[in-house]
Amino acid sequence: MSTADHSRRSAARLSEDILHSWSGLPDGVSPSPRESNVPSARELEYMRMLKTLLGNVDGMVYRCRDDAHWTMEFVSEGCERVTGYQPRDLMGNGRITYESITHPEDKTWVREAVRSALAARTRFDLEYRILHADGGVRWVWERGTGVLDEHGRVIAIEGLIQDVTARRDAVQALREAERRYRGLFDNAIEGIFRTTPDGHYLDANPALANIYGFSSPQELMDSLRDIGRQLYVDPQRREEFMRIMRARGSVTGFESQVYRKNGDIIWISENARALFDASGTCVGYEGTVEDITERKRYQARIEQQANYDTLTGLANRSLLQDRLEQALLTAATYRTKLAVVFVDLDRFKLINDSLGHHVGDELLKVMAGRLESCVRECDTVARLGGDEFVVLVTGQSAADQVRSVVERMLTVVSQPWVTEHGEFNVSCSIGVALFPNDGTDAQTLLKHADSAMYRAKESGRNNFQFFTRELNTLMTERLELESRLRRALERNQFLLHYQPRVDLTSGRIIGAEALIRWQLPDQGLVAPGRFIPLAEETGLIVPIGKWVLKAACAQNRRWQDEGREPIVVSVNVSARQFRQDNLVRTVAEVLQETGLEPRYLELELTESMVMHDPAQLVAMLGELKRLGVHIAVDDFGTGYSSLSYLKRFPVDRLKVDRSFVEHLATDADDASIVRAIITLGHNLGLKVVAEGVEMPQQVSFLQTHHCDEAQGFLFGRPVGADALAQLLGRRIAPGVEA
Ligand code: C2E
Ligand code: MG
Ligand code: MG
Repeated sequence: MSTADHSRRSAARLSEDILHSWSGLPDGVSPSPRESNVPSARELEYMRMLKTLLGNVDGMVYRCRDDAHWTMEFVSEGCERVTGYQPRDLMGNGRITYESITHPEDKTWVREAVRSALAARTRFDLEYRILHADGGVRWVWERGTGVLDEHGRVIAIEGLIQDVTARRDAVQALREAERRYRGLFDNAIEGIFRTTPDGHYLDANPALANIYGFSSPQELMDSLRDIGRQLYVDPQRREEFMRIMRARGSVTGFESQVYRKNGDIIWISENARALFDASGTCVGYEGTVEDITERKRYQARIEQQANYDTLTGLANRSLLQDRLEQALLTAATYRTKLAVVFVDLDRFKLINDSLGHHVGDELLKVMAGRLESCVRECDTVARLGGDEFVVLVTGQSAADQVRSVVERMLTVVSQPWVTEHGEFNVSCSIGVALFPNDGTDAQTLLKHADSAMYRAKESGRNNFQFFTRELNTLMTERLELESRLRRALERNQFLLHYQPRVDLTSGRIIGAEALIRWQLPDQGLVAPGRFIPLAEETGLIVPIGKWVLKAACAQNRRWQDEGREPIVVSVNVSARQFRQDNLVRTVAEVLQETGLEPRYLELELTESMVMHDPAQLVAMLGELKRLGVHIAVDDFGTGYSSLSYLKRFPVDRLKVDRSFVEHLATDADDASIVRAIITLGHNLGLKVVAEGVEMPQQVSFLQTHHCDEAQGFLFGRPVGADALAQLLGRRIAPGVEA
């Protein structure tokens, strides 16, 4: 078949269709003015083109009447896609009217809109719903216009109806998404912003306004016109922000301090990215802001706790370690000296124990401040704990400069400290180790400064010592001593000497003080002064003390068993032993085991011990008294206390310290002190013993002033048990009348 044939046949069919369509029209509306109902070829071709075009239109092209049914005079094939009905179903209301498929809720306004457009002779353009043949609802977009006759009357309406459901849905979805994102934007806890590169806000959410202290995003956007200068505390932060943006296109966790509206400063963290236009030019930034002030504060607190001493605010041990390492590096690089200064308050424990911890704390704070006042900002003052401080003095070129700093420390610390509890004179002992001479690493320097400080304590406190090689040797010896001391008990290296105590009236030996000696294989006897302090420090005094107690009680019992005149044996007890809860039980057990009657045992405690934890001590002494043992206060007069405790403590004897007895004959002050102690003791119903009596003049003085008893080289040095046994029962007090 030729193309021409084909087109002719199609045209013929088209004309048939059209005629068929027209034929459905009521009378009088025939569109054809011609009598002949056979179209010409040109007309056919024209119709074919029209049909093709209309068929291609996305939607239905129509012509209808302006009546109650919107009666369709012509409907293109797109009808089926839009409504689900065939054109012939709608045409001339063949099966259904367009009015009836218009959505009930839209009928009225659609009609109204069409009517007014027709009246105004304008096009109408509407979006409404229709009921599809499949039972569903479709959104359609109708544009149309009235067709007028020569008199200007509307004879029909022509237009196009398209299904826009999909587009509507898309728009709806978009709106929904937009609404959701807006919700996120408005309700976010984080601040969200968009700004121009030159620091204007384009958008801000309520959270951002809130973070910056504005009542609304609008107020924020109106007020902050220059972010760099108005917002950032350090304007350089904005520059830094831009620099990173230029380099990387985004920032994360960018922390800065910013001003709030009221001038408060807060910390924020920003995540942001640069925005670019199609040509790649930066057109702004967008991102989020988080208020991290609380977190920063918390971090600072944690850091403070990790690095600083809570009581004094000074650096703590760990920060000291860091600073020391740092200072060592610097000192090594610049070849400067670095001084590690160890400071320990003298007799701090006494104040702390007697006046209570709050006073002790106060004192530490005051002293911390005083030490800080002696050094420059760049130096470190740290508290290691207790009353121990370490000061790092950096950048010194000579030991002499350190000396002046340390001298200043001694001076300011010893300034009287006035409180509501009274005035206190506190001193300190200082040890200094220098880099690089005394050590090149932190640990060694600290250790050596500590040793030097010990030396200062030993040299009578309130002074400073530089670390020396000799001191190092001493410290090494001390360490050695400690390890030997740990093994001394099991190796049975201790023994007791006894020093007689004499009744000054009768001249008889009425007691003996047990004094420990350490027999080292290669060194002869070691005096207690060389190892008791170490034993106290290490806690070894507890087992050693128990051994002394046992040995002394056993010996005393042995003397009695040998038929010698019974005496009281005195045993020195350390504070550390008293702090063991079971001291009373230990004493009871030892007495039980050895079979010594309690009245033949006396415990000596030092005056300063009485200051520690008095309430508990009173209770323990009470129990010991109930056991029947005697209690003596040793080294009386050297303590730090008020004497009121004597009234409360069940004490039997005061042992006047040797330092007062020594110059009794020559020093008027010492003489009056001893006299006063004797009087005091007697008034309280106590026996008074003079220690360290070496000369007959001392004896006469003591007798004149009715001192009860005496002990000293004049009557007998501390000797072994057998040697003492020889003395028992003899009158040995020279110059004492029978
Ligand atoms: P202390 O309890 O005051 O003992 C008296 C000390 O003075 C003894 O020193 C004694 O030898 C010495 N002494 C006695 N008379 C004279 C004298 O006329 N002139 C001089 N210059 N000194 C005299 P020692 O034996 O060296 O003991 C020293 C300290 O060691 C004792 O002082 C005591 O506090 C402590 N100690 C001794 N043995 C023990 C013990 O078993 N346990 C405890 N915890 N401490 C002990
Ligand atoms: Mg003693
Ligand atoms: Mg003594």
